[in-house]
Amino acid sequence: MEDESNLDAGVRHLHMSILNGMVKHQTSAFAAVKAGKATPLNQVIRVYLTSDQVLSSVPYPPEQPLACEAGCGFCCHLTVLVHPNEALAIAEHVAGWPAEMQAGLRERLESNVQATKGLPLATREVTNVPCAFLREDQSCGIYPIRPMACRRHHSLNLDSCIKAYESPTAGIQNEMSILAIAASDAFMASTVLALEANGMDHSRFEMNAAVLEALTNPAAIKRWKSGKLTFPSAEHVDRTGGLTPEVRAQYG
Ligand code: SF4
Repeated sequence: MEDESNLDAGVRHLHMSILNGMVKHQTSAFAAVKAGKATPLNQVIRVYLTSDQVLSSVPYPPEQPLACEAGCGFCCHLTVLVHPNEALAIAEHVAGWPAEMQAGLRERLESNVQATKGLPLATREVTNVPCAFLREDQSCGIYPIRPMACRRHHSLNLDSCIKAYESPTAGIQNEMSILAIAASDAFMASTVLALEANGMDHSRFEMNAAVLEALTNPAAIKRWKSGKLTFPSAEHVDRTGGLTPEVRAQYG
């Protein structure tokens, strides 16, 4: 019991110390993007580098070490929600790919959006549609700039990932590191608060639809900066940005 409350306190402390440190930093980073002095890709790279440092130092229980390995893509069949800056950054990155690669990606994005059209988010979650960035060897095609929702996924049990993949409707939860979740959620919460402070859209969107529109709708970045819904064609949208009421209450 004492161990559990120590862990709870440790999780809360980690979450709040990251959040407090990142909100100010992210608010000025988004102000620079809004003013055209930096791009979404510049902004996310800085945040991802910081989060990589934090997440790589998260301790695991000795009996449950990190189970994630290169070439293991079970979790890449789950639904990924991204903030607008992440989808716009991916589109910016992809613009540097050869034309043939870009065309292949567009096809996969369109096919994924069509395959899940009209489904409620909870149903989409259990379709096992592979992410458009997942390569044949099960590696990530945008690993250095993969979204925070993917960075958050630190499995402690490969078996739970396999079972959840094989029986997507059975409600099996992947066993994940709660410290990695707390840290990643703090980075995500700081994004929402900083976007709000700049009057920019902080909704979360399903990644395939968001990146497709980021690649095809030149007005998306203007919409984002002016606080309008960035990707109006995306079906699966969370207007809260994923911020919990507790964190919102703390920040007013
Ligand atoms: S972006 Fe990369 S890590 Fe995330 S779901 Fe897609 S393939 Fe997996």
